Amino acid sequence: MRAIIAGGGIVGLTTGLALKSMGADVVVCEQATEIRAAGAAIGLWENALDVFAEFGVGDAVRSIGAPIETWFYDASGNRFRAPGYGPAEHRFLLVPRPELNRTLADAIGADNIALDARVIGFEEDADGVTVRFGDGRTDRADLLIGADGVYSMVREQLVPGYPARDHVGHHVWRGIVETGDEPAEGSVLTVGHHRTRGGYTPTYGGKTVWMVNQFDSAAPVDTHKREALRRASFMNDNGWGDPLNRLIERTPDSQILHNQIMYVPELPRWSGARVTLIGDAAHGLSPHISAGGTLGVEDVRVLIDRLRAHDRVADALKAYEGNRMPHYRHVHALAHAVEQARDAQEFAREYARFSRWMLTDGARHARQGE
Ligand SMILES: Cc1cc2nc3c(=O)[nH]c(=O)nc-3n(C[C@H](O)[C@H](O)[C@H](O)COP(=O)(O)OP(=O)(O)OC[C@H]3O[C@@H](n4cnc5c(N)ncnc54)[C@H](O)[C@@H]3O)c2cc1C
Repeated sequence: MRAIIAGGGIVGLTTGLALKSMGADVVVCEQATEIRAAGAAIGLWENALDVFAEFGVGDAVRSIGAPIETWFYDASGNRFRAPGYGPAEHRFLLVPRPELNRTLADAIGADNIALDARVIGFEEDADGVTVRFGDGRTDRADLLIGADGVYSMVREQLVPGYPARDHVGHHVWRGIVETGDEPAEGSVLTVGHHRTRGGYTPTYGGKTVWMVNQFDSAAPVDTHKREALRRASFMNDNGWGDPLNRLIERTPDSQILHNQIMYVPELPRWSGARVTLIGDAAHGLSPHISAGGTLGVEDVRVLIDRLRAHDRVADALKAYEGNRMPHYRHVHALAHAVEQARDAQEFAREYARFSRWMLTDGARHARQGE
C-alpha cells in the first residue's frame, strides 16, 4: 500500500511511522521547509506513550521528556486534588515539542518526508487518490490521510462547511524562560477568578514553561505581557501567585505566544473511500483538558489496526471512523463539563474524571476490535 500523509506535526509523523512499520510505502508531506512545532512543550499521557512504544519510539520519547504531576490550586494558593483520584489521573510526560517532532522524523527517515510540500487538493477514484500540491505537482496513492491540523485543507474538501471556529472568548498566553526561584513541585495549575487558569512547569534545559488562560474573556487590547499579567492577577489573591508574575515579567514580550483558541466542530463523517482525517484535522479540541495531541496519537493505533484488519481501504476507513466518532462525542461531553466548572474544586474534579476515563475506558475502547 502507498499512503500520502498531509501534515508533518506530531500526529502526521506518528501516522507515518506506524504505516512504515506495517510495511506501507509512505510519504509525509509537510508544507513548511522544515519539521518544526509551535509551542514549547506538550504533556503526553500514558495512552499516547503506549502507542509510541508500540511503534518503536517509546524509549526515545521518554528519554527527552520529564515525568510531571499536576497539582491544582485556588486563587489563595490552597493545593488540592479531587477526592478519590490519585497520581495516575495527574501524571504525564512533559516533552519539548521541537525535539519530539525531530525524534519522530528521524525514526521515519528523510526519504519518507517531503518538505515544502503543501497539499492543496485531491481526487478520489476507484483505484486510488491523486493528490495535488501547491507547486503544481501531483502524486498518486492508495490512501490520503489529512493530518494537517485545525485549519485542515483535506477536511475543507472532504467535509465542506466545517471550518475551524473560534472558541469564543477563550484566550491563552504562553512563554518559556529561565527557571528562577519558583517552587519546583511539578505542575502548578491554578484555577482563579473570572474563569482564569494558569501556572507553570519546569521543563528541559533549566527552563520553565508558563501559561495563562481565560474563558469568556474580553478580546485583548494591550501588549501580550500586560494582558497575561492582568489575567494572572485573578489567580493571586494574597501574593502566593507572585512566582507566575515573575516568570511573565522575565519573558520578553516578543517571545510571548498569544492564541485565540480554535476548535473543530463535530463532523458528520471523517472519511471518504480513499481519504481520511486524523488528529486536530478531525477533532481540534480546546486545550483546557491538555490532551488533544495525546488523543491524536491514539487515533493512529485505531487507524493502523483497522488497515491491518481489512483488505479494502474503504472498509478500514469506515471501521476507523466507527470507533473514533462516538469516542470523541464522549470526549466533548467530558471536556464541556471541565469548561463549565464553577470553581477550582469542580474544575479539578471534572479534569480528573476526564483523565481517568481517557486512561481506562477510553484507552480500552481505542484498543478494541470492531
Ligand atoms: C495552548 C495549547 C496547549 C496544549 N497542550 C497540550 C498538552 O499538554 N497535551 C496534549 O496532548 N495536547 C495539547 N494541546 C493540543 C495539541 O497541541 C494538538 O492536539 C496537536 O498539536 C495536534 O497535532 P496535529 O499533528 O494533529 O496537528 P498540528 O500540530 O497542527 O500539525 C499540523 C501540521 O500540518 C502542516 N500542514 C497544514 N496544512 C498543510 C497542508 N495543506 N499541506 C501540508 N502540510 C500542512 C502544518 O504545517 C503542521 O506541521 C495543546 C494545544 C494548545 C493550543
